[in-house]
Amino acid sequence: MVSVAYEVVAAVKDPELPVITIADLGVLRSVSEKDGHVRVVITPTYSGCPAMDAIRFDIETALTRNGFGSVEVVTSLSPAWSTDMITSAGRAALAKSGIAPPVAGSPACPHCASSKVLQISRYASTACQSLWKCHSCAEPFNAVKTL
Ligand SMILES: [Zn+2]
Repeated sequence: MVSVAYEVVAAVKDPELPVITIADLGVLRSVSEKDGHVRVVITPTYSGCPAMDAIRFDIETALTRNGFGSVEVVTSLSPAWSTDMITSAGRAALAKSGIAPPVAGSPACPHCASSKVLQISRYASTACQSLWKCHSCAEPFNAVKTL
C-alpha cells in the first residue's frame, strides 16, 4: 500500500527539470514511516548536482506542509543513479515539454522527431542538459545528458 508520506514525496518536482517528479526521475528510493518519523532515501543524479540540496529542501517542505513533523532525508549512493532510471512516464513528460529524453547517441528532435540535429553546446540552462538545434524544423531544444 502506498502511504500518504510516499505520495507527498513522490509528487515533488525536480528543480532542474520541473516537468518531472523525483519519482519519475528515479531519484526517490524509499519512504518509510515509523512512530510519526518519516525517513526518505534519495540517490543523487549527476555527481555534484546542486539540485540535490534543493530536492532535499523541497521534500522536507512538502512533508512538513502535510503535517509530518519529523522528517529525515538520507542520501544513498548505491545503486548509482543513471538516466536508465527515468521512468517511461518521465521520458514522455520531458518530450512533451520539448526536452529530449536521454538516449544513446544523438537525441531526436522533441518537436518534430527528426534525427537531423546538431549539438550547439555541451551545457544548456543546467549542467545536466545539453543544447541542440534541429535542422528539419529549425527549433533549438535541450536534451538531458545520458549517464
Ligand atoms: Zn525538429
